[in-house]
Amino acid sequence: MGAGIAGLTAGFFLSRGGAPVRVLERDRRPGGAILTEHKDSYLVESGPNTVLANSVQVDELLAASGLAARRLDALKINKKRYILKDGRLFPLPAGPLQFMTTPIFSARTKLGLLREPFIGRATGEETIAQFVLRRLGPEMLEYAVGPFVSGVYAGDPDKLSVRWAVRKIHALEVKHGSLIRGAIAKRKGPQPRGGLFSFPEGLDALPKELARAVGSVTYGASVEKVERDGDGFNVTASIDGRTETFPAGRVLLTGNARDVDAVLAPLAPEPVLKGMPYAPVAIVALGFDRKAVAHPLDGFGFLIPQTLNAPLLGCLFTSSLFPGRAPEGKALITAFLGGARHPEILGWDPSVFPDRALEILRPVLGIAGEPEMTLTRVWPEAIPQYNLGHGAFVERAAALEARHPGLHFSGNLLHGVSVADCVTNAALLARKILQS
Ligand SMILES: Cc1cc2nc3c(=O)[nH]c(=O)nc-3n(C[C@H](O)[C@H](O)[C@H](O)COP(=O)(O)OP(=O)(O)OC[C@H]3O[C@@H](n4cnc5c(N)ncnc54)[C@H](O)[C@@H]3O)c2cc1C
Repeated sequence: MGAGIAGLTAGFFLSRGGAPVRVLERDRRPGGAILTEHKDSYLVESGPNTVLANSVQVDELLAASGLAARRLDALKINKKRYILKDGRLFPLPAGPLQFMTTPIFSARTKLGLLREPFIGRATGEETIAQFVLRRLGPEMLEYAVGPFVSGVYAGDPDKLSVRWAVRKIHALEVKHGSLIRGAIAKRKGPQPRGGLFSFPEGLDALPKELARAVGSVTYGASVEKVERDGDGFNVTASIDGRTETFPAGRVLLTGNARDVDAVLAPLAPEPVLKGMPYAPVAIVALGFDRKAVAHPLDGFGFLIPQTLNAPLLGCLFTSSLFPGRAPEGKALITAFLGGARHPEILGWDPSVFPDRALEILRPVLGIAGEPEMTLTRVWPEAIPQYNLGHGAFVERAAALEARHPGLHFSGNLLHGVSVADCVTNAALLARKILQS
C-alpha cells in the first residue's frame, strides 16, 4: 500500500526478483512526500530536497534503476551550515579544530567535552535533551543537537527518544560508553558513505522512474481493508469509485499511522499505531532577484535554536545547493516553518506564511524588497515523531507481523524517517521476502 519511496523501493526490488507485485496508491502521482513543483521557472522541492547516500541499498537502487548516471550531487558548498545566534549567522564547526576556535560555544562547553568519555551510560530510556545535557552540556543542545533535530524531525528534543530517533548516536554510548570514544573508533573502521544528492529535474525523478520500472502501480486506489484468507490475505480497495477485492500472499503497508491502522482494523482489534505523534511542517519557497539578498548564501542554509521559540525551523539556500533550481541571476530560498513545538501554524491562513518567514529571514539574510515568487505547501502530518515510548509501537507492530506472517509495516513509521532510511529498510525487506 502506497507509492511513496518505501512502497516503490520494495516494489522495484521485488519485481526485479521475479515476484508479482501490485502497488496501490490513493493519490494520482507517485512519490508521497517527495514532491517536485515548478513555478515561474523555479524548481521547488515541496517535500525533501536532498537524499543522503548513506547505505549500500541506496547505491544499489540508483544503479539498478539506471538513475546513478543522472544523480546530481550537492555542490561542495553544502558542507557549510550556519546557525543563528544573537541575530547573526555563524558556520557550525566541521571538525575538531574549528570546534575549538568557534565563537558559538563557550570555553566551558569546549573543555566540558574532555569529561565526556568518563560519563557513564544511561540507566533508562532518555530524551535527546536529557542525553545531550548529561553528556555534552546545554550549549551543545541549544546550538548543535537541538537544531539538527529540528532539521531532520522538525521535532522536540524534550520528547524525542534518543534510542529511537538518533539510533547511531545512541549506539555509540551503548557500544563504546562515550560519543567521543565511539567516534574515534569509527574513524578507524570503514568510513560511512555519504553525499547529498538529487537529480537535475528534481527529486521526484526517483519515484517516477521506480513507478515506471515497477509498472503495476494503480493510482486513485485507496486501500480500505486487509483481511486474512487462509495463508494469505484479501485486500479491498476503492479504485476510482468501484470496490475491488483481490488476494495477496504478502502485504506491505506504508502511509501514515492512521491510514495503516484503518486498513488493519479486521486484523488488529486494538489499533497498533494509535497515538503516534506527527509534527506539521510548512515549506515556503521564496524566489528573489539575487541582488535583493545581501548574504552570500554560501552554504546549505541555516538552523535556528529552539530557545528562540520562533515558528521558523530554518532555511535552505536551495539555489546554492544544486544548479537549475532558480533562473539565472535569481536566488531560491526554502524556509521551513512549524515543527512539533509550533503546531499553531496549522491555524494560519495560507497567505501569511511568506510574510511570517520573511519577518525572520529579512534581517538575518539582508533581504531587500519582496520575493518575485512564493510557493507554500503545508504538511499537517509531515514527520512521525519517535518520542519516548516509541518502542511500544515497534513492539505492537512486530507482534502483529508475527501473528500474521506475510504482513509487513514499512516506510517511515517505525525505523527511520529519512528517504535513505525508507529506501534501506524497504530494500532489506524485499530481499528478505525474496529469500524466504
Ligand atoms: C516537508 C518534508 C521535508 C522532508 N525533507 C527531507 C529531506 O530533506 N531528506 C530526507 O531524507 N527526508 C525528508 N523528509 C522525510 C521523507 O521525505 C519521508 O519520511 C519519506 O519520503 C516517507 O516515505 P514513505 O514511503 O514512508 O511515505 P509517504 O511518502 O508518505 O508515502 C506513502 C504513500 O501511501 C499512500 N497511501 C496512504 N494511505 C493509503 C491507502 N489507504 N491506500 C493507498 N495509498 C495510500 C499515500 O498517498 C502516499 O503516497 C521530509 C518530509 C517532508 C514532509
